[in-house]
Amino acid sequence: MASIFTKIISGEIPCYKVAEDENFIAFLDINPNAKGHTLCVPKQEIDKIFDMDEALYAKLMAFSYKVAKALEKSIPAKRIGMSVIGLEVPHVHVHLIPLQEMQDIQFKNKVSLSNEEFAATAALIASHL
Ligand code: 5GP
Repeated sequence: MASIFTKIISGEIPCYKVAEDENFIAFLDINPNAKGHTLCVPKQEIDKIFDMDEALYAKLMAFSYKVAKALEKSIPAKRIGMSVIGLEVPHVHVHLIPLQEMQDIQFKNKVSLSNEEFAATAALIASHL
């Protein structure tokens, strides 16, 4: 069965898109740790990050770097944190999270945003790419 992220990539499920190229897409996490929490996802459905071939892994890091730079320009934060987990969605994704404090990377406290705030945040990040 297609992963939820494959359904987002195919357009079957909507997302707040930040960036896209031939191999990857970046969109806002629907249950964010912090405003601007973004997921960078390969279009190829691969479960675990270290199952990727090294070339695609390097390209995912380069794509995530560009998105992180745009996040830095868009969302006030002490720094952008990066995390790879995949226990909930078995389709590789890099979490990029604007951090103010340690708990922002801990997936415990969540922020709630309106549809308008999600859309404006995605557009703001995209404008800095
Ligand atoms: P992980 O697999 O790394 O543990 O976490 C998966 C992440 O994907 C979670 O932060 C969760 O909020 C996010 N997520 C799960 N389903 C969706 C979805 O349908 N849309 C979006 N944008 N994010 C999702």
